[in-house]
Amino acid sequence: MKYQRVLLKLSGEALKDQDNIYDGQKLNQTADQLISMVKDGLQLGIVVGGGNIWRGKLSDELGIEQISGDYMGMMATVMNALALQAVINQKGYAKVVVYSALKIENLTKDYNFYEARDLLAQGYIVIFASGTGYAYFTTDTTAIIRGIEVKADVILMAKNGVSGVYDSDPKQNPEAKLFTKLSYDDIIAKNLHVMDQSAALMAKQAKMKIVVFDMQQPDSLTKIIQGSLTSTIIEE
Ligand code: UDP
Repeated sequence: MKYQRVLLKLSGEALKDQDNIYDGQKLNQTADQLISMVKDGLQLGIVVGGGNIWRGKLSDELGIEQISGDYMGMMATVMNALALQAVINQKGYAKVVVYSALKIENLTKDYNFYEARDLLAQGYIVIFASGTGYAYFTTDTTAIIRGIEVKADVILMAKNGVSGVYDSDPKQNPEAKLFTKLSYDDIIAKNLHVMDQSAALMAKQAKMKIVVFDMQQPDSLTKIIQGSLTSTIIEE
């Protein structure tokens, strides 16, 4: 394995299908991959997004102020975290915890980075919900922050159906060129749409390595950990 402790950023998109906020098959396949990785000894933290349910950006259309919309988005990430936890649990892997940056006493643990590091070392799948707990952020930025806090070796940014960062949208342009290596400054200066600028700046400051890859490829996580999957590596 190339990495011992990773922080996986999983978008809400990874859990949905065209018509429903959850696709049972995707949820199960994702859970199977996660369990198999920790059983192989990988220490795995996950920041889940909420885009399959709600994004703060949609607030305007409904006449809802963005701050309220953002809190709704954070709650969407909690739903996804609980869904993942439940599926992982039902598959017989009980070592899975959900931390929430917003206090939800009956269901989640209050975030504590010392404890999170300890649980990761013990083989727990540690899921981070509610993003940063603040409006005007995204779960991309959260992934960088949690990755730094738990001392992850790398942030694995899972994409759905694209192999990494391209010079144009590969879903629109069949000629789009994949970058295999990029610097933080490339992301910032070229405004490449792989994560928001605050996430890129934070990663740069902390020199946190990021690997962008296609989660939909068979055994994608195993291959990315072995370094045998086409991807984009972002580092200094
Ligand atoms: N969000 C927020 N603060 C955070 C993280 C998320 O306000 O620290 C809100 C924001 O409205 C965002 C939504 O939660 O649109 C869902 O997160 P995100 O869009 O990052 O999910 P993804 O696209 O990765 O599924």
